[in-house]
Amino acid sequence: MADSKKKFIVLLLTALLTMGLFSCASDGPASAESKKPAANITAASTVSTTSTYQAKGVWYSFNGLKFAMKVPADLKIKAVSKYKPQFTGHNDRIKVSLRRWNQVSYPNLKSLAALVKKHTGRKIRQVRQGGLRMVKVQGLKTKIKYYILMPNGDDYILTISPNKDKHPKLKFKDIKEEAKAIEVSLRMPKKIPSGAKRIRLARTKFPKVNYLVLVNSSHKIPNKWMKKISVVKTVNSLGKKVTAERKTYKAYLRLQRDLEKNDEVFIDLDFGIRTVKEQQKLIDDYTKRYGAAYANRIAARPGYSEHHTGLALDVYLIIDGKEVYLNEEMKKYPKVWKKIHAKLAKHGFILRYPKNSAYPYEPWHIRYVGKKTAKKIMAEPGLTLEQYLARS
Ligand SMILES: [Zn+2]
Repeated sequence: MADSKKKFIVLLLTALLTMGLFSCASDGPASAESKKPAANITAASTVSTTSTYQAKGVWYSFNGLKFAMKVPADLKIKAVSKYKPQFTGHNDRIKVSLRRWNQVSYPNLKSLAALVKKHTGRKIRQVRQGGLRMVKVQGLKTKIKYYILMPNGDDYILTISPNKDKHPKLKFKDIKEEAKAIEVSLRMPKKIPSGAKRIRLARTKFPKVNYLVLVNSSHKIPNKWMKKISVVKTVNSLGKKVTAERKTYKAYLRLQRDLEKNDEVFIDLDFGIRTVKEQQKLIDDYTKRYGAAYANRIAARPGYSEHHTGLALDVYLIIDGKEVYLNEEMKKYPKVWKKIHAKLAKHGFILRYPKNSAYPYEPWHIRYVGKKTAKKIMAEPGLTLEQYLARS
């Protein structure tokens, strides 16, 4: 009797322990894990003994990022650091990569999740594990893909997939266990374990941009401009992809948040960068809709649009939850535009085609020039960038 009781207790303990380990290893959304402080790395190592793959693993940590993961010991690691910090690793069977995504800071996991959902067009799951905030892309049959929100607001994409370079026929299901072992190890440790290998990810280097560049009907976009700027991609509320220069977009996000929080004004991006080809298409569309005379008046010749710079943005309004983006419709909200224009300079933008200037009025077209210049230009209503640059 005593013996069987002992056995029972041992079994019970084992069961409880296993359950505990499972919940710790789970990547479920906001599990008990998220309420606990970040598990430290020693505790995580105990978890690893549940898997043979995990047991053979080696911890890696990344300098500058509070992030660690355990990967198979034979993984060959390569840290790439051109403009985007990136890391890749592979062995015979699996490939792991961690790379910077949008180079944009997000306020929270929810907004990152919304963007990932729009960007991938797939179901997503918000995951909190080991102190990390992540978005997992669901329904992928060939890889595991996470978008990770680092504590500093930067976003990274982590993918774990079969190494098809070595074995073209290898399927995800063949490496599932190894992949899962890496997946459950992802965490933000309080203490980096002494044995952990550190990976040095270079800091992102951004090109120096001339934020005062002038592009208009007589000034063409400078040669190889696109190679001189760093670009970010986003998706607007209509599901359309929009790209813009990195710093311009960051400033726009601040403007957008400021308007939402303090003015209850909601805006989104209609156009950022338009390539020369896209500009031609726009002129064709406008010609169909408004006639050639109007089209040529409101849209610049290809090569001469400020939208080629990535520093110019067209915003649209969201009024009572509905998108208002047609020019003639947007003009019906002068009070809303007034509130928007009042906030531009504070965030480094100017109204590029103001009222009473040589240009037709475009309340939606804003241009990033940096705070110092924006404050000077916006202090004089009707002053254009051309007039300002001619003075200095
Ligand atoms: Zn525009």
